[in-house]
Amino acid sequence: MIKTLPVGATIGILGGGQLGRMLAVAASRLGLRVHIFEPGANPPAGDVSHRVTTASYDDHAALTAFGRSVDVITYEFENIPTSALDLLETLAPIHPGRQALATSQDRLTEKTFLQGLGLQTAPFADVPDAIALGAAMDSIGAPAILKTRRMGYDGKGQARIMVAADATAAFADMQGAPAILEGFVNFSHEISIIGARGQDGSVACYDPGENVHQSGILRTTKVPANLTASQRTDAVLIAARVLNALDYVGVMGVELFVTSTGLIVNEFAPRVHNSGHWTQNGCHICQFEQHIRAIAGWPLGDGSRHADVTMENLIGDDMNKLVEYAKTDAAIHLYGKSDIKPGRKMGHVNRIVRT
Ligand code: AMP
Repeated sequence: MIKTLPVGATIGILGGGQLGRMLAVAASRLGLRVHIFEPGANPPAGDVSHRVTTASYDDHAALTAFGRSVDVITYEFENIPTSALDLLETLAPIHPGRQALATSQDRLTEKTFLQGLGLQTAPFADVPDAIALGAAMDSIGAPAILKTRRMGYDGKGQARIMVAADATAAFADMQGAPAILEGFVNFSHEISIIGARGQDGSVACYDPGENVHQSGILRTTKVPANLTASQRTDAVLIAARVLNALDYVGVMGVELFVTSTGLIVNEFAPRVHNSGHWTQNGCHICQFEQHIRAIAGWPLGDGSRHADVTMENLIGDDMNKLVEYAKTDAAIHLYGKSDIKPGRKMGHVNRIVRT
């Protein structure tokens, strides 16, 4: 059943980082209010939200009060404790739903799910312990990547195994956490596709973007990506397949490797995605508004691209060059973070590429 939120309704967002902040701005443009739940003090999203609750995810009283004060709940990161979701789902609808979260929280479940849909992934093997590592290496071989099943992001919780002798050290890096071993994919480049699915089951995808990472962190996204027309269509079909299979409501980012044997799915994120920030200046309706529309039961908006765009993340002391960025025609989006730290995402700029 479609639940359409009226103007003035309140959206609860779990997590108060930059994604929450940009969701809150989009919500307020649509006349909706936002209540942020975030354990850390002074979250970036707090500056632009109607209300902020500062409490931990095991504070049941705070979660209950939050859940009662909102009309729908969404989130800006995927590692939300299950116990918090168990409580919140009795108080308000949660979009995207539990299946999407549970699947994306665990790399083994995620890869198994993707393969079950008939999609191509890297070869993978479960590595619950040191004994399983040997069998996994035998079946996958080197080079490979060992990744923790849970809580990995921006390249954290990963170790590369270039030759079989590296395997023991890589396993030690996991610090006892259950892991999966992935065969190394020989890709030409990395792309992502941002898709959305409304409460009525309609699906809309943005043009795929081409991503460049540095030290495991997204550095730039450019659109259009270097893809053939059929690869572009494949990317859209892959996103739609995942969205439909999960009966998904909201925006999702799907990361793909481009190879000579087709597109290989790396992972999906059940939320707005850093590689979709270009849509703020390249599309009529950006990924943040699209997500709010979907979870609010509104029709999806027109996400067609009207310009070529390059998005560049401002990471750590890139912020010291802010005045230089401001002198160019780049559209600046800052997250309101005052402490500059190495590797910290401070903002991004979008440049329209004029030909
Ligand atoms: P992830 O945390 O899974 O998104 O991985 C971070 C980055 O590591 C990706 O964007 C790729 O550049 C690289 N990577 C991850 N998995 C593989 C793989 N199986 N083969 C080759 N490169 C990978």
